[in-house]
Amino acid sequence: MSASDAASGVNGASGGVAASLADGAARIPELIDRYDQRVPRYTSYPAAPVWDDEFGEDEFRSELQQVSGSNASIYVHIPFCERLCSFCACNRVITQDHDVAAPYLAAIGREAAMLRDALPHELQSVQFAVGGGSPNFLSPDQLQELAAIVAKNFPPADGSERSIELDPRNTSLEQIRTLAACGFNRISLGVQDMSPKVQKAINRIQSREQIESLVGEARGHGMRSINFDLIYGLPYQTVASFAETLEQVVELRPDRIALYSYAHVTWISKAQRGFERKDLPEPGVKVAIFVSAIARLEAAGYRFLGLDHFALPDDALSRAAERGDLRRNFMGYTERAGLDLLALGATGISELAGAYAQSVREPDAWRGRIESGRLATLRGWRLSDDDRRRKWLIQHLMCNETIDPGAYAERFDEALDARVPGLADGLEPFERDGLVARDGDVWRVTPLGRIFLRPIAALFDAYRDPGDPKGGEQRFSKAI
Ligand code: SF4
Repeated sequence: MSASDAASGVNGASGGVAASLADGAARIPELIDRYDQRVPRYTSYPAAPVWDDEFGEDEFRSELQQVSGSNASIYVHIPFCERLCSFCACNRVITQDHDVAAPYLAAIGREAAMLRDALPHELQSVQFAVGGGSPNFLSPDQLQELAAIVAKNFPPADGSERSIELDPRNTSLEQIRTLAACGFNRISLGVQDMSPKVQKAINRIQSREQIESLVGEARGHGMRSINFDLIYGLPYQTVASFAETLEQVVELRPDRIALYSYAHVTWISKAQRGFERKDLPEPGVKVAIFVSAIARLEAAGYRFLGLDHFALPDDALSRAAERGDLRRNFMGYTERAGLDLLALGATGISELAGAYAQSVREPDAWRGRIESGRLATLRGWRLSDDDRRRKWLIQHLMCNETIDPGAYAERFDEALDARVPGLADGLEPFERDGLVARDGDVWRVTPLGRIFLRPIAALFDAYRDPGDPKGGEQRFSKAI
């Protein structure tokens, strides 16, 4: 099915972004030809491949000393998974040996204490997120231990959020009960796709019953926000097959949905060689799947947020979007603006007001560094004044879908033209193609333009080589 064929499904939508998209759907294949470049996902600015290998532990410690707020977001990376999903490009270790978890957790405890001691004052955790890998690789006792480590070093603020990513295939109801008892109030389930054919191709077979039972248990324990991760662009997906997945998702009614674009990056992830490029939907079909998904989710009452998130109207993420407080970081979209993010564990990325710092990726090497009493900083980046301004512009675009010279001038006491000369020229093709539209002084991304947010954001990226229109071949995934 082509993108324009998908428009017929879109036309049936109840309004919102999807209904407006229907008008432009016939042009999507042509637009993909023009704008499907390799560009960063802009979960950071500058993008991680730009960061400096010379930025090490000393530089990170010096940045930690500059932290001025009293609240933080804490992220813990648990890299272990029992089985390899063949679409995976995450940093993970596949093992059935659960004995690896105890020493890893001990090192997390040590790293948390080192970070706490490197700060100028105590920080409360307003957000505590656990991701992976598969955090449910930890036993109930180990999950409790992890919560205790974070609470000891970064005491939870009243009403703090605690969230965790879970693999439905091997999460037990006992784990859910333990998480609830430890104050976790959000879970994120890796659903990806419900089609048996797609699940087989990606080596991730999981039933609706498994997912439903976890959702029921979490709700029964008062967890107030349940997220499903879904992926479009996986092998053998079609508009019709993904529509069936969405019907089941809508019936289970998660509070949030992250609908990620599959990134085929075989030079980064050998796991993705388990299927052929020819098994993947063509770019036009991939976009058609996305457009149809927007229509179905909007019709089901979800609000489309930023690049790829959806939330029910009373979810905190939707409310943050209404207030203009949505932010984007390595964990996706978040409603907590302006917090320093401290990461624990192998490959963890800390984001401070003035810098990024990433830890050593390989878990044994990371643990060796921590056990020797050193922070395991692999690389990082100190933000220049120019970086901060461009980061704000990219955040504003990715979260509010606008380029607002007035808001920029008010915040930075500088004209946008002075910072990004030639912006109007850069936006001209997007404007001509109906992807952005002028509204007074403000450029607003149109519903059709939401699909091309990454190429639009790249106009603010001072590290892209303007002489390389394909931009970062082999470093970034394609925009679509
Ligand atoms: S997709 Fe998730 S569960 Fe699957 S191998 Fe990757 S990190 Fe592990």
